[in-house]
Amino acid sequence: MSSVDTKTKKYKFKAEVKQLLDILAHSLYTTRDIFLRELISNASDALDKLRFESTKGTDFIDKKAPLEIKINFDEKKNTLTISDTGIGMNKEEIMKDIGTIAKSGSAEFLKQLTESKNNVNNIIGKFGIGFYSVFMVAEKVIIKTRSFRKDDASVEWSSNGLGTYQIKEIDEKLKRGTSIEIHLKDDAKEFAEKYRLESVIKKHSNFIQFPIFFDKEKINTMPAVWRERKSNVKPKQYSEFYKYLTYDNEEPFGVIHNNVDAPIQYNSLLFIPKKNTDFFGFNRENYGLDLYVKRVLIQHQNKELLPEYLSFVKGVVESEDLPLNISRETLQENVVFNKITNNVTGQILNFLLKKAENKPEEYAEFWNEHNRVFKMGYTDFTNQEKYLKLLRFNSSNDKDEKELTSIEDYVSRLKDGQKEIYYVIGNSRNSIEVDPHLEIFKNKGLEVLYLYDPIDEFVINSIRKYKDFEFKSVDSTDLKKLNDFKDVEKKKEKLEELNKDDEKHFDSLLARIKDILGDKVTEVMESKRLSSSPSLLVNPDDAMSAQMQKMLRLTNQEVGNLKKIFEINKDHVLIRNLLKAFKVNSKDEYITNVVEEMFESALLLEGNLVDPHQLVKNINKLLVESSEWYIKAKGIKG
Ligand code: ADP
Ligand code: MG
Repeated sequence: MSSVDTKTKKYKFKAEVKQLLDILAHSLYTTRDIFLRELISNASDALDKLRFESTKGTDFIDKKAPLEIKINFDEKKNTLTISDTGIGMNKEEIMKDIGTIAKSGSAEFLKQLTESKNNVNNIIGKFGIGFYSVFMVAEKVIIKTRSFRKDDASVEWSSNGLGTYQIKEIDEKLKRGTSIEIHLKDDAKEFAEKYRLESVIKKHSNFIQFPIFFDKEKINTMPAVWRERKSNVKPKQYSEFYKYLTYDNEEPFGVIHNNVDAPIQYNSLLFIPKKNTDFFGFNRENYGLDLYVKRVLIQHQNKELLPEYLSFVKGVVESEDLPLNISRETLQENVVFNKITNNVTGQILNFLLKKAENKPEEYAEFWNEHNRVFKMGYTDFTNQEKYLKLLRFNSSNDKDEKELTSIEDYVSRLKDGQKEIYYVIGNSRNSIEVDPHLEIFKNKGLEVLYLYDPIDEFVINSIRKYKDFEFKSVDSTDLKKLNDFKDVEKKKEKLEELNKDDEKHFDSLLARIKDILGDKVTEVMESKRLSSSPSLLVNPDDAMSAQMQKMLRLTNQEVGNLKKIFEINKDHVLIRNLLKAFKVNSKDEYITNVVEEMFESALLLEGNLVDPHQLVKNINKLLVESSEWYIKAKGIKG
């Protein structure tokens, strides 16, 4: 072609590429054979892309060339060549594409890689680190490639992986596709040896859907597992395919394989990993199922096939009933596609339901690993019934923080006449168990669900009810119902009842407390729920919970002035003493100090004390006073 620019040009690698190359060059890996996995998967991607173009009717060169991968080696020259008849690259593409690293979160990936000197092997093996992994074994790489488009020139790229690469367009008309010639480092000669190579290729590439020819023979012989009848597939095949697909080296937690023929034909092979693989938290976008239509890979990691709350599921879906020319945009409007999506979701939920019922210990493992993602399912109203059955919480009925309770369990233990499911929100079991709001529930023997995770409150607020039972936070005010239940714990010895006169004084004391706190509370009233604490704050019904306020504040959102009711325990020694002081002098400053202190402590307990200064100042004042009383009472002289 006249426009071919055959001059060799030299370029520097981008900074991040250089950084990756340095790491790869200066560490020792036991897993460096994964470079082959990366190159073969790139070849397979390139073939998939070509097949996809072909189904769209795009015109391209070398139509007759079969879609395949070839791997050749030369033990004497220490070289290895991987070639494909895929989509190829033109000069612009090679400069742009061979130059990106591990597309998802590359910066974070690099950071982790640099920081975790010791288990670099682990990280490298688990991620698709891409083309550059070849420089773990290569001292020089030459790529020759020709794009599938008619007018693009052939290109040659080469580099020693140190800092620069060369590129030129070449006159020679290559065949469509890409070949990658690797000149092996001295310490990587093993990759030009037949048996070593063969085992590595088999290990990593058995499930590639295009033929791989090695030493003139087709080396990958595995059929597409998902297309096989379920009854014909051996556990080992599932496990191998899973490992190939996810780079996980553990067995999957669950395998869900379905061959559906009517009314819509599709095969799905889904896996639930044992571990939440998003262990750095930056892999959020890295989910979805591979979608095949009539054996053509239409989309890798399609995100519409799975609701986000099931994004831990990996796998493949293939259908004969979808049109090949379906575009990503029209997928969502496609009735068949939507049916498949619904079925897939249903199958996953059914699998989990079965596990939860038959193997609760295994379900608990799943829950502990994946619950953060799974809980987001509260937005899936279609499957709410199943979702509710799968939810787990810790509960006052459980022995420790680790045990799990389902809503069904809770309901099966309801007291006669109990219409509500009680819950409390807190950071940990320890902090919840000292919460004064729980005192009455303990006294009445009423079970309370313990919610530790911020998302739990969204879940509860959104589902509101389970069957006819409404969820009710322990800090809401409406407690008339609670008094219908008998005490199960013997109350501590009660203080003497107040006489009529003192009852009146007590009412005035409540008014005085309201005066002291002013606008900070809506109301001050006698508490019916406390036994060992002097006071607590409760929520007017349906107001935002304390935990929610705290969360909003932590994320710097305006919370406004959410006022609460301040409840006072008449049967508490502190309150009785205040009452005595109050009777002598209703304006006593000491009462003011104590009340302010009680109020701020209550705020502190629920995590909503914005400024601790006042509280500390008050405590100090009270400590000084109490120390003086102590010295006097003991007759200590100094
Ligand atoms: P990834 O495969 O995750 O995109 P890689 O580093 O493995 O990252 O490859 C980078 C890009 O280089 C690919 O996305 C593709 O565009 C291009 N590429 C690599 N190998 C080939 C190939 N054999 N044929 C065509 N394009 C390729
Ligand atoms: Mg790749």
